[in-house]
Amino acid sequence: ATPTSIMVGTGRAAEMGVLFRKGDALQMLQEARVVALDKTGTLTQGRPELTDLIAADGFDSDEVLRLVAAIEAQSEHPIAEAITRAATQRGLDGAEVTAFTSITGYGVEATVGGHRILVGADRLMQREGIDMGKLAQIGDELGRKGRTPLYAAIDGQIAAAIAVADPVKPATPAAISALHDLGLSVAMITGDNQGTAEAIAAELGIDIVVAEVLPEGKVAALEDLRTRGKLAFVGDGINDAPALATADVGIAIGTGTDVAIEAADVVLMSGELTGVVNAFDISTRTMRNIR
Ligand code: ADP
Ligand code: MG
Repeated sequence: ATPTSIMVGTGRAAEMGVLFRKGDALQMLQEARVVALDKTGTLTQGRPELTDLIAADGFDSDEVLRLVAAIEAQSEHPIAEAITRAATQRGLDGAEVTAFTSITGYGVEATVGGHRILVGADRLMQREGIDMGKLAQIGDELGRKGRTPLYAAIDGQIAAAIAVADPVKPATPAAISALHDLGLSVAMITGDNQGTAEAIAAELGIDIVVAEVLPEGKVAALEDLRTRGKLAFVGDGINDAPALATADVGIAIGTGTDVAIEAADVVLMSGELTGVVNAFDISTRTMRNIR
């Protein structure tokens, strides 16, 4: 493509709400074979809701939710917001929290009213040697429904299985089929539970699932996908900035964090994935000199 056609392409893209921050991204997109998408906030709304709380024998579900919500009030994770919202709606208000620790990719831990409480993924319970008993199967079933299973432990005893669900954004299914029509392989990268990720991927027809990735593991996961061909990555979060810089083309959702936008080659003005399809489309037209 000539410098003029690149200018025209970049201008047309801008009119459609797709900002090319680097000129060669228009050409690089044309060479991409794989598109990797962050799950939370990119494929999904990033605003989960509490759907389930199943207390273990001998525990009261309202009391567990009250203690868990008190801890989650200290966390900024979207899962934490889902839990505190649900507790507030049920009038289950705060308790005093001390010695709060957030364990990235695992969950949170604190002391509430003299009790040591853990809330997080199954790997947090395993790490702390908590026997999940029959709640392990219940959590797995919730995961197979595309919900994110979490567990709460009180003083070393499993107290509840909890689930949150994060709705898929309206334009996500159509965008994924359009990417397939362009001949691209579609991958999903997430820190979420394997079963949950697979259920959502199956529903959306996603080809490759990389789940239970710790934030610092995202770059390695992308390097691995890159062996299949040139790679575009779409993300929205602070954690996505290194991944956006690693991909051949980093695409940030404009409704995401400033850190992600700064690290991206392409920025989408809308929160929907339609912009990703438009970016590929304009790239093809520009490189083939189609008006
Ligand atoms: P993602 O952004 O893809 O959800 P994270 O690394 O932020 O990935 O979180 C991975 C997992 O760690 C979550 O799915 C959840 O199981 C657990 N987790 C993280 N933060 C919390 C929290 N505040 N409360 C409960 N679980 C959490
Ligand atoms: Mg995200």
